[in-house]
Amino acid sequence: MDQLKKEIEFLKGVGPVRAEILQKELGIFTWGQLLMHYPFRYIDKSKFHKIAEINEASQYIQVKGKITNFNIVGAGRARRLVGNFKDDTGTIDLVWFQKPDWILKSLKENVEYIAYGKPKQFGYKFSIAHPEIKLVSNNNIEGNALDPVYHSSEKMKKFSLDSAGINKLMKALFEKLHPADLPETLPFSIIDEYNLMTRIQSIKNIHFPVDEKQLEKASFRIKFEEFLLIQLRLLKRKINRNIQYKGFVFKKIDDKFKRFFDEILPFELTNAQKKVLKEIRKDSISGKQMNRLLQGDVGSGKTIVALMTMLMALDNGFQACLIAPTEILALQHQESIKEMMDKIGVRAAFLSGSVKGKARKQLFLALKEGEIDILIGTHAILEDKVVFKNLGQVVIDEQHRFGVAQRAKMWTKNTLPPHVLVMTATPIPRTLAMTLYGDLDVSIIDELPPGRKPIVTSHRKESARLRVFGFLKQEVEKGRQVYIVYPLIEESETLDYNHLMDGYESITRAFPEYAVSIVHGKMKPADKDFEMQRFVKGETQIMVATTVIEVGVNVPNASVMIIESAERFGLSQLHQLRGRVGRGGDQSYCILMTGYKISKESKQRMEIMVETNDGFRIAEVDLKMRGPGNIEGTQQSGITDLKLANLSKDSKILQIARQAAVEILKKDPNLNNRDNESLKIMLRNSSTKWSRIS
Ligand code: ADP
Ligand code: MG
Repeated sequence: MDQLKKEIEFLKGVGPVRAEILQKELGIFTWGQLLMHYPFRYIDKSKFHKIAEINEASQYIQVKGKITNFNIVGAGRARRLVGNFKDDTGTIDLVWFQKPDWILKSLKENVEYIAYGKPKQFGYKFSIAHPEIKLVSNNNIEGNALDPVYHSSEKMKKFSLDSAGINKLMKALFEKLHPADLPETLPFSIIDEYNLMTRIQSIKNIHFPVDEKQLEKASFRIKFEEFLLIQLRLLKRKINRNIQYKGFVFKKIDDKFKRFFDEILPFELTNAQKKVLKEIRKDSISGKQMNRLLQGDVGSGKTIVALMTMLMALDNGFQACLIAPTEILALQHQESIKEMMDKIGVRAAFLSGSVKGKARKQLFLALKEGEIDILIGTHAILEDKVVFKNLGQVVIDEQHRFGVAQRAKMWTKNTLPPHVLVMTATPIPRTLAMTLYGDLDVSIIDELPPGRKPIVTSHRKESARLRVFGFLKQEVEKGRQVYIVYPLIEESETLDYNHLMDGYESITRAFPEYAVSIVHGKMKPADKDFEMQRFVKGETQIMVATTVIEVGVNVPNASVMIIESAERFGLSQLHQLRGRVGRGGDQSYCILMTGYKISKESKQRMEIMVETNDGFRIAEVDLKMRGPGNIEGTQQSGITDLKLANLSKDSKILQIARQAAVEILKKDPNLNNRDNESLKIMLRNSSTKWSRIS
């Protein structure tokens, strides 16, 4: 039997009780899963600290010295045993809350010990609670100097499954394993080319590192393999698609495109926009289905690119559609696009859940008959009932809200899958993009239209509210418009709703002479739209809203964005919201209002927002602060398969692994070579999980 599939209960030192704990706390059911519970850091036990060097920032450390005396202090739950521990530079306290008698019996005064733990400061003194204690002997210095530290929970600690406990299990496990249990998984050519450690060596070294250098190599190899598998899977999907699916060829650039360009387009395209249009054009005559991701910061002008892409399809006798994640955004696209399209005789129509009854039926019919050229709408367009006559181009705005499965739904809407352009306004760090969208081609608009002034961002607390209102008044007097956004988070919906309403009231009271709009998720779509339109047309000066206005809304005259309880928003959301202003030629402002007491992380978020307008920078920081698992769209991406590799820290390794994946597939697209056999098996084993989403 495969040793690694053995149940964890039957490993020496585990048994039924601990097995249950390991299952519940870490999801470890088998020997193999334990093997993949990697240490998250290492302590260098060849190094000793002097007591005088201990400071607030000290992490886990080792000190060598003697206990000079013991005292029992405190009462009740605070009752504890304190040993004064002294080296030749100073003294700290070693503290035990549990089993003081046993400690007193087993430790002696004035004998040299090594104490290990994390010091904490109390007043001017440092102490280590429940230190690990060892006698000084030659053994402590020899052998493995790097001690692994494993994640463990309070519950696990109660059952002696702390880091040291897991280390023990790991030793027991390695005693049972044979080389044959850990066969090589990577092709030898790759091991050779990238100078990788073998699998067996790397797994051994990650748990029991011989030295820093070996550890480094081990960790590189394991991370490389994790990234390689994800990249192989993505690239294979791309290759298969290219083999399987031919694409419509849009030979002509004709009347509609040209007329739009010559007569309608109100500005010069930026160089970045031109470059992206060229990339798209190339795809659309390649004979293959386009699957392209268009990244660009808020306000970089993706919509025009999308529209011109759709016109290319139209010029070749095809229909096109544009899908947006919210009704408001879809409507706004419809408004702006329809007006321009009417002028050149292109028929644009709108579909969302709120288009009902007769109107819906008529629309379906017209679409099927080919009487509609561009359909703009929400995910209602994905429904099976929506049948096109000849759909050639799909544009999906704000991709991160749609899953891969939804994207794929559009493929079946014609005899060949239509070309797909997905646009995201939340810039994604390169590494994340390579992992989330590694099967797509990527275009980037890295330039804002000319004449934009960078938005000035500031962080203000409640005491500044009057001044903020004063500033707001000043801007409105100049003819500008203002957004005030409140958080709305499901768990505390009622409370948030009350805040919003309170805010609305205080605004109407503070500015009786202005017209104030309000938009929130509880309103009927028609009412929302009505209010939104009033603001768009400049009939109201202030828009009080929840995050329903987050994406895409375009009101160039709006110059102030006030975000209330800004500490409750994530970075990408803050950046998105800020992007609602700064869309015209005027100086724009974003004011982040927070409470007095905010967490360190919230403070960091405010600081980076104040510091930069660069969406890609913000995305990098976001990834570092939150980790990839918490970023929208990542749960289904395979990123959660990463055990050791870290997207924000290991981008170099990711790039090397991607390079390797390209090379492997170039030589052997179906992984049929013997050398690639285990890669093929690993991909197949993990594809059950993936098939659900692609
Ligand atoms: P986003 O990329 O966030 O979707 P939009 O497409 O909504 O951005 O464009 C933002 C604003 O910039 C719109 O008012 C649009 O008309 C304008 N715009 C787009 N491209 C240009 C350009 N090349 N020159 C000037 N203004 C532009
Ligand atoms: Mg947009």
